[in-house]
Amino acid sequence: MSRWPVGVFASIDAGLGVQLDVAAELSIHTIHLHAPGQKSRTPEKAREFLGRLKKLDIRITCVFAGFEGESYADIPTTQHTVGLVPAETRSSRLVELKEIADFARLLGVDVVGLHVGFVPHDTTSSDYAGVLEVVREACDHLAANQQKLHLETGQETAASLLQFIQDVNRENLFINFDPANMILYGCGEPIEALEKVGDYVRSIHCKDAKWSARPGDTWGEEVPLGQGDVDFSRFLLTLVHIGYEGPLTIEREIPQDPQRQKAEIGAAASLLEELKEHILAQGA
Ligand code: MG
Repeated sequence: MSRWPVGVFASIDAGLGVQLDVAAELSIHTIHLHAPGQKSRTPEKAREFLGRLKKLDIRITCVFAGFEGESYADIPTTQHTVGLVPAETRSSRLVELKEIADFARLLGVDVVGLHVGFVPHDTTSSDYAGVLEVVREACDHLAANQQKLHLETGQETAASLLQFIQDVNRENLFINFDPANMILYGCGEPIEALEKVGDYVRSIHCKDAKWSARPGDTWGEEVPLGQGDVDFSRFLLTLVHIGYEGPLTIEREIPQDPQRQKAEIGAAASLLEELKEHILAQGA
């Protein structure tokens, strides 16, 4: 794989990403895939899906897990509904995460991405210990599949995320770095954060956002790439610095307007290609 291929977040029957044919029309050959719903996670569907991917010359680099009942309506709702943190659904979602990992394996994908949720801040609490325990169990299941787990950034500051990863203490736990999420959730300047957690970054999302007037209390605003507060030129330079050479996976979640979504992803891809060429021409 050449350095920094441009990718996109895509979906088959679940999630907010673009459909596969849209990725193909945009000449994009690497995707993160929203895990399809349970009914579609069968060996037959995996074979059928791999056939389509082959025809379109598209490769999946990460399968992203998501769960029934998650809502990103606002920050408190996200806190109560997302990932492995909510205690009521923790064990059932762990079971589903393992199923998703097994489906990813059928697709030949060795990375599963996850919004783990808002990790409890009190690292001495039983809740924190409970979240550590399920993430360890998930990592162990994935390790048996020769897979890695990538935690999506945003809900934690860089320091808390590092602490959490060290506390989980598993060799197949890494980070999917999303610079816009740092801004949307109000968890810190993205470039600074990327430098801090760089050793663990094994996949990224290229998404842009503007800071909220009350960071951490209300959402910032997701905007088309290049129009927000993420400095993508510095972002790519920092990727050079941390030694990241994998896909630049564009995430733009406006499925209610597929025409605009396609146009904005196309523009984002052009912008990234331009920045990439400029940076790599400097011998970075
Ligand atoms: Mg993301």
